[in-house]
Amino acid sequence: MIPQIHLRRGKEESLLRRHPWVFSGAVDYIAAEEESEIAEGALVEVRTHAGDFIARGHYQIGSIAVRVLTFDEAETIDAAWWEHRIGVALHVRRTLGLVESPETDCYRLVHGEGDGLPGLVIDIYDRTAVVQCHSVGMYRARLDIAAALRAVFGDRLAAIYDKSSQTLPHKAGLNAVDGYLWGASDRKAHVVHEHGRQFLVNWEEGQKTGFFLDQRENRELVMRYAAGRTVLNTFCYTGGFSVYALAGGAREVCSVDSSERAVHLADENVRLNFGDDAPHTAAAADAVEYLKNIGDRYDLIILDPPAFAKHHKVLGNAMQGYKRLNARALAQIKSGGILFTFSCSQAVSKELFRTTVFSAAAIAGRKVRILHQLTQPADHPIDIYHPEGEYLKGLVLYVE
Ligand code: SAH
Repeated sequence: MIPQIHLRRGKEESLLRRHPWVFSGAVDYIAAEEESEIAEGALVEVRTHAGDFIARGHYQIGSIAVRVLTFDEAETIDAAWWEHRIGVALHVRRTLGLVESPETDCYRLVHGEGDGLPGLVIDIYDRTAVVQCHSVGMYRARLDIAAALRAVFGDRLAAIYDKSSQTLPHKAGLNAVDGYLWGASDRKAHVVHEHGRQFLVNWEEGQKTGFFLDQRENRELVMRYAAGRTVLNTFCYTGGFSVYALAGGAREVCSVDSSERAVHLADENVRLNFGDDAPHTAAAADAVEYLKNIGDRYDLIILDPPAFAKHHKVLGNAMQGYKRLNARALAQIKSGGILFTFSCSQAVSKELFRTTVFSAAAIAGRKVRILHQLTQPADHPIDIYHPEGEYLKGLVLYVE
């Protein structure tokens, strides 16, 4: 029998509105025939205090006790179910024009809750799927997930790489080792295409799944503003924004990242697209320090830092960090300059981010217009019942 999670009286409300998480405080008791059945990651059923079925999902030890896979009692979580969910996810990307596109061969196939698969991320790089499990339940299901990917993609897929070792909860003690679940590759660096531009991606050793797919559309917007501008791309990682700025006719681009490896990669990607003579320099440095003394050299600056606030608890410090960073860029950017500024912290709301950038503008004492309000692209969809899925925020500012 599937273990049964009985909620405290009245604690089913958010679930009846299809929010996909059961918090541990909502759980009254767990009923199972054997203690071993309620291991972390197990499939469980959630019931009201009165015993009515609400949902099935993955059990986890921590503040989120269950991540819901289905609210439909008739749905069992079997091979056909995984195939269906992944098939729907692929259909959505096909609708977006991302599947078999002649220009772009990398996209996010599964974005956790946004695709009804909480705890699971799958990115596609040409013919390889990179799977990243954030929950023990998804990790335990990885072979079912791999089988479903193969069934849905057929011979369009050549390999499936599991990269969960860094994203699983440490406390679970799974000692996960990254590696191919199916197929293999004899190379570490692969060239993928985004809007016809080329990027080296190394999913085995790179950050996240190897590339920040969520900035695809925002990079294209940078291209539209770049002509004739002197560009500073901070937190550049693979140099995505730098490549687009050069493609848009930037006079000069400087890429900055604290990681030597990232700086090297940005350089390589520029060379891959434009050869050796592109007006590009790259520096390994702390971006906040670097921004202290840039003078009025730059008239297009990109600020794309990692999540400063990983949890609500550290929000105060994180907002100070965002404010300082933005104030430095706003104070020095050339008159008529364009600032692209982002926050990918889920804990920072759109409103809070905007207020923080507003404070930074006030500190810098510049006249600032908001030109665009940016977010994550459609292959990182948000389940309407799970607003927490909205994480990427960006503002494009015109600084007089
Ligand atoms: N803009 C990139 C993604 C940025 S990810 C893209 O389009 O792909 C964030 C990057 O910030 C990482 O590469 C990380 O190495 C870098 N980083 C983290 N802290 C930093 C700091 N203090 N100064 C400069 N770079 C930093």
